Amino acid sequence: MRWSRAFIPTLKEDPADAEVASHRLMLRAGMLRQVARGIYSYLPLCQRVILKIDAIVREELDRIGAIELMLPILHPAELWQETGRWDLYGPLMMRLSDRHDRAYALGPTHEEVVTDLVRNAVRSYRALPLSLYQIQTKFRDEIRPRFGLMRGREFLMKDAYSFHTSAESLDATYEEMHRAYARIFTACDLDFVAVEADTGTIGGSSSHEFMVTAETGESDVVRSAADGYAANTEKAVSAPLIAPEAEEPKPLAEVATPDQMAVADVAAFLGTSPERVVKTLVYETDKGVVAVAIRGDREVNEVKLANLLDAQVVALAGEEVVKKTTGSPVGYAGPVGLPKGVRLIADETVRPLTNFVCGANKGDAHFTGANWGRDAQPGEWADLLLVRGGDPSPWGGGALELSRGIEVGHIFKLGTKYSKELSCNYTDENGADLPMIMGCYGLGIGRTVAAAIEQNHDADGIIWPRPLAPFEVLLIALNVDDATVREAAERLYGELQAAGIEVLFDDRDERPGVKFKDADLVGSPVRVVVGAKSLAEGKVEISLRRDRAKLPCTVAEVVGKVRELLG
Ligand code: ATP
Ligand code: MG
Repeated sequence: MRWSRAFIPTLKEDPADAEVASHRLMLRAGMLRQVARGIYSYLPLCQRVILKIDAIVREELDRIGAIELMLPILHPAELWQETGRWDLYGPLMMRLSDRHDRAYALGPTHEEVVTDLVRNAVRSYRALPLSLYQIQTKFRDEIRPRFGLMRGREFLMKDAYSFHTSAESLDATYEEMHRAYARIFTACDLDFVAVEADTGTIGGSSSHEFMVTAETGESDVVRSAADGYAANTEKAVSAPLIAPEAEEPKPLAEVATPDQMAVADVAAFLGTSPERVVKTLVYETDKGVVAVAIRGDREVNEVKLANLLDAQVVALAGEEVVKKTTGSPVGYAGPVGLPKGVRLIADETVRPLTNFVCGANKGDAHFTGANWGRDAQPGEWADLLLVRGGDPSPWGGGALELSRGIEVGHIFKLGTKYSKELSCNYTDENGADLPMIMGCYGLGIGRTVAAAIEQNHDADGIIWPRPLAPFEVLLIALNVDDATVREAAERLYGELQAAGIEVLFDDRDERPGVKFKDADLVGSPVRVVVGAKSLAEGKVEISLRRDRAKLPCTVAEVVGKVRELLG
């Protein structure tokens, strides 16, 4: 492609509202233009990267026997009403109506549509397992669309759905998908980690997220380098924390703690440590009000709590509810003497505590010397701990570390959630009607472009990993007015193309400074510069974008050298 005939509107200045590198550089490199918040035009350079990712995705999914199709973007409300998600999805779903006032959604995901397709088209166990996928535009009216392609309101996703007659068959496909995703992100030359994830509102039993590691990621990743454990913070567990030393039981005593509400203050006031305080939090949920006891120095993981309760909404209760539930102002709830009928869930961190401090369920008072069994007993024990860096790995190999990641893929075992709701059944060998068992597998195409740039850039521009580069080579003719330069560059352009190398030829009548700046922005892995001075000695200059290492080379050697550099 000749730059003079291409459409690459680079920008000299940093755009004002682009916070992260990928957004800024995609705008500056002429890859992207915003049409409205979270809605973009993908310019030719961007489209080339997208097509490369599409090709990698197709190759790996086809390899495991998934079959490509194309489902509609426009979904009738009735389908979503059948699963109840018309209401559950809330404002995230873009809605519209047709001329007959029938309601539709712009598909944020395709479980309903694909399950409807399969329930009507597949009857027998003989047609299963079946894996279907598409690369399609999705719409989500995100609260905060931002960071360019990272979180758009209109974005490209590869989504796949699998249908099975047994849990074993789903497990096998899930494993294959997991491995296919790993091969996809490896083929993109990205640093990534697959983490155990929460299944959230989509339901189902098991799920993994694929995270590209990057400072600017919006997700927290918990990992143990020593044993390979990896999970997102919503899901992460730790081995039991080191507990304060157990003591002989002391008598329970109520002590006045005026104006001591924060755990740290109470502990200091009573001459103990927050680890010996049982903090009790009151939550309001759609499954009722619950009290949660956790060690004073730790926080509750509200996603774990929501899962335990099978609740959609979990929020700390306000003053009034706390008062009504515990009889005390906020900050003085505790397991000892908690009014009967209040559901108390205790986190495992408080189980080993002896002679602990806790709120007395009345204002300005705490108990000391409290002990489980004698003074209080929770209705249930559970792991509700929000893990922290430094906590012990559940797999036994050292400490957990926290880092940031960009979620580029997410795979789920759905089970029969959607097939039951939509009566997607098959007939087995014995003629019995059974719901199909399902999995679903999402991969953000645009977000992968952004993630690749987050991981591969410097102050001057993008540094494309070769497999994703819109052009593998940028050939620059430094002065196109010089006939020898122009001829040599034209000849090299032809030779490189003939060798099957993707080359962008900067044949513009521009100053060298402009060309070099644009070259850095656009980020082709290999750059070939043809200039009058070196050409006089029969040479051109080849360099690598990543480390800018310059390799002098004769005109005749160019194609071979470029091939070698591209590996
Ligand atoms: P997030 O937690 O980041 O909002 P999600 O968990 O809602 O994402 P999924 O429903 O799992 O997303 O969608 C599958 C994949 O689609 C994600 O892993 C991500 O790569 C991509 N994706 C989701 N939402 C967006 C968005 N608004 N813009 C770009 N890509 C997205
Ligand atoms: Mg997700």
